[in-house]
Amino acid sequence: MISWLKLPINCEAIVIENVKITSEHVAAIDNLSLQKFRNDFIDLSLIEQFFETSAFIEFVNKVNSLKNKRWLCDSCRKTTGPKIVLQCDVCLAWYHLRCVGLKSVPKTQFYKCPECN
Ligand SMILES: [Zn+2]
Ligand SMILES: [Zn+2]
Repeated sequence: MISWLKLPINCEAIVIENVKITSEHVAAIDNLSLQKFRNDFIDLSLIEQFFETSAFIEFVNKVNSLKNKRWLCDSCRKTTGPKIVLQCDVCLAWYHLRCVGLKSVPKTQFYKCPECN
């Protein structure tokens, strides 16, 4: 899950060497990475252990500050409207339908984006 953040430090160092994510790292995370954590199904407490205490608070604030903004498409990086988007069930990225070559939302429950296929 932390690999989504595209952190300016190595994710392996965080998990294996117990290096903590600092405020500086949090400040460097882009909105596209952050928006994956806006999904209500994601339990942020699962990744709390990887952060310094103050850095985690800043991270949560940053995620919450995105709540009123529109999603960015992971493919074209432009904002998405509510009707024409699709979320990948594997990486949780959002896409415009046309950016993943679809004309309508697939009937299947589970959607896997081109990146995850
Ligand atoms: Zn797009
Ligand atoms: Zn995906």
